[in-house]
Amino acid sequence: MAIQREHDLGSGITEGGTQGAFRDVLAKNHSRRGKAPLHLVDMTDEQRKEVAAQLGMPAFRVKQLAQHYFAHGDTDVHNYSDFPARFADVAKEAFFPTLIEPVAEQEADNGETIKTLWRLFDDSRIESVLMKYPTRTTLCISSQVGCGMDCPFCATGRLGLTRNMSAGEIVEQVRIAAYQCAHGRLPGGSTRLSNIVFMGMGEALGNYKAMMTAIRQISALPPEGLGISARNITLSTVGVVPGIRKLINEHIPVRLAVSLHAPSDELRNELVPMNKRFNTTQVLDAAHDYYLSSKRRVSIEYALMRGINDQAEHAKLLAKRLNHYGDDWVHVNPIPLNPIEGSKWTASKPEDEQRFIEILRSAGISATLRDTRGSDIDGACGQLAAKELANNLVSRS
Ligand code: SAH
Repeated sequence: MAIQREHDLGSGITEGGTQGAFRDVLAKNHSRRGKAPLHLVDMTDEQRKEVAAQLGMPAFRVKQLAQHYFAHGDTDVHNYSDFPARFADVAKEAFFPTLIEPVAEQEADNGETIKTLWRLFDDSRIESVLMKYPTRTTLCISSQVGCGMDCPFCATGRLGLTRNMSAGEIVEQVRIAAYQCAHGRLPGGSTRLSNIVFMGMGEALGNYKAMMTAIRQISALPPEGLGISARNITLSTVGVVPGIRKLINEHIPVRLAVSLHAPSDELRNELVPMNKRFNTTQVLDAAHDYYLSSKRRVSIEYALMRGINDQAEHAKLLAKRLNHYGDDWVHVNPIPLNPIEGSKWTASKPEDEQRFIEILRSAGISATLRDTRGSDIDGACGQLAAKELANNLVSRS
């Protein structure tokens, strides 16, 4: 096929400079892995039409394919009653190659949390987690195979970064989950997948271009996209400042979540190594600028670790630093740490969690403790590491 994926990955990380530990964010062998097969989602409209022409199909067929894909989540072209059967196989191969295949699934919370382990074309593994709540259904998705940010308390951080995911690989997690929701995969029958969080494996701003291509197609209405409003998409970042600034200029109203985890540089340098590149002041400045331009409150994620960052002094300093920018621009989301195996950090005591939240609230900052859905299946925040323990998993193959 004549169409090549562009080499520029648009990473917000390398853009900010070329020095230091974070230049080498991709696995040494990433280029040998090759690229994921090109999918409809990865192609511009011109590229789609070019591919159609190569197959001898009129251009309007592309719109039909997109309509079926985005509106109904169906990639079996033979099911399309308005599509000529003679083109079905070639169209499927050219536009809907299988990019992610379920290897295993685990359920928790009475079936309202489902974690799926996916195999990618190069045999890499990633995970996504579907969570049903009373008023919404949320999918937590991955944007990279592994992660290069090296946060020592995070299971994915332990893996290092293997490679960026393609936009097609990212969107396929959403398309399949939306299809499953619509077809009654969750308890209570058919539901609509309403929210997406980039809180699975990877640093999405480290894979900027594919992330943005994916966000545009998750949020556009069919036949351009899956129709999940950008306002219901949360992008979580370790604090890649050039990426946040680039995002401001996209003028797409996604919710921004920043993984702060510490109120001072001294402590954050230890918990979030990327802080040595973009410090707390730079990160908070960028987060506040995001708020100013988007008018959307920014979330601050803060994993509470016993005796490390959960004391009154930490809450007070955090409140002071956030209030420095004004009122009502931020929401703090403390997360009880999900301790990973062999880690020296453990979850805070419940009374320390409560005190932390109360200090923030009495300083006028809204704060709610994040629930820990799926922690018994390693599906909770920071625990996605694509472990394949056969005895834990319900194999589907
Ligand atoms: N790279 C993105 C997404 C990471 S996962 C980011 O850094 O924001 C989403 C959230 O889970 C982040 O705030 C991350 O710091 C947090 N997290 C990671 N490991 C965790 C753990 N063991 N317990 C609780 N939260 C964790």
